[in-house]
Amino acid sequence: MQQKKSLTWRILTGLTLGAITGLAMSYFLIPAGTANLWISGLFDLVGGLFINSIRMLVVPLVFVSLFCGVTSLGDIARVGRIGGKTLAFYLITTAIAISLALAVSVLVKPGQGLNLAELSKHEPSMASRQSMFKTLQNIIPSNPVAAMAEGNMLQIIFVALLSGVSATLVGARARPVIDFCESANAIVMNMVMLLMQLAPYGVFALIAKTFAAVGFDAMLPLLKYVLTVLVVLLLHMCLTYMGALKLLGGLHPFRFFKNFLPAMSVGFSTASSNGTLPISIETVETRCGVANSVAAFTMPLGATINMDGTAIMQGVAVVFIAQVYGIALPLDSFLIVILTATMASIGTAGVPGVGLITLSMVLESVNLPVEGIALIIGVDRLLDMTRTVVNITGDAVCTILIAKSEGKFDAAIYDAANAEE
Ligand code: ASP
Repeated sequence: MQQKKSLTWRILTGLTLGAITGLAMSYFLIPAGTANLWISGLFDLVGGLFINSIRMLVVPLVFVSLFCGVTSLGDIARVGRIGGKTLAFYLITTAIAISLALAVSVLVKPGQGLNLAELSKHEPSMASRQSMFKTLQNIIPSNPVAAMAEGNMLQIIFVALLSGVSATLVGARARPVIDFCESANAIVMNMVMLLMQLAPYGVFALIAKTFAAVGFDAMLPLLKYVLTVLVVLLLHMCLTYMGALKLLGGLHPFRFFKNFLPAMSVGFSTASSNGTLPISIETVETRCGVANSVAAFTMPLGATINMDGTAIMQGVAVVFIAQVYGIALPLDSFLIVILTATMASIGTAGVPGVGLITLSMVLESVNLPVEGIALIIGVDRLLDMTRTVVNITGDAVCTILIAKSEGKFDAAIYDAANAEE
């Protein structure tokens, strides 16, 4: 906990120092001629190393975490009805979250005013060059090894899902492979955690490079990006979650937020759904009136596969990065983003920063430059904290509604938790 907090501060310090350094270079310090040494030299090197280290992890992370996510659903199949309802709720709310994010950011245009097309090695083009039908047809790779080598995300997702389903159907004989993938998953997650230690330096270099190149021009779009994500997170809380509590559960939505507040504050400060899990389970049971038999199943599953807040950040980031690089997003690419971001939500582990890594899978699926992550990485820690609150809130809302529909909900506890205050 202590270490996580200090990492947050180090990243924020990297962000601030990077912005100050970049601005200073942009306006005063750079003697003509040495600019290239700093901007295209040192900052580019350090920032590039960091971005590459993120890219390095995408394929193994997506494959093993989706495989493990699906094999953990094997247990849900057994739980039958509850499992089906939970899964449907999680997937539908995530798809709503990402659609909301795309709609709002297309309207708000957070990336307008910043043009990095010339800084990029990426040739501007239509984001998705293939037709929708061709993309659908290509979801099944003729060579799964080639799909991994090329980092073709939709194909990797397909192979991971199919392998996970088959492993579940095979049962006991697949256990060694499932165990292997679970341990590989733990190793990849550890690699993410180690790389996050380098984040302050990466963030410093990337932000300094951007600000040195474009000066204050970078500030407003970045602020717009942050505000757009925050607004959509809030909209999703108010429209989707409060609406679902009221319309599907007949429950007082404001009471829910009062009851669940302790878990939300832990989610905010740790930026980790997994780290908050014990508290969020305890909170839905003792303050929201959900029986342990439901919460013990739906909450851990939600912390693993349901990340609405992360999907929202990814939706806004896709539009932001496309605008900043001047790349047009055709309509069918929005469908691909909804599909891949929903899958990314399953593949995103509930620990700090992973959403940004699975963002590269969403970007690659519509052929947007992954280096766009460099722009938003500096402000991501703050957004990670807020989106984690939404991630765990989605799990709790689903849990309450499922418990209510199964007769495993105690309205007296739900109402009483407020009476004490
Ligand atoms: N930090 C998020 C969570 O734990 C995941 C992410 O979006 O990075 O829920």
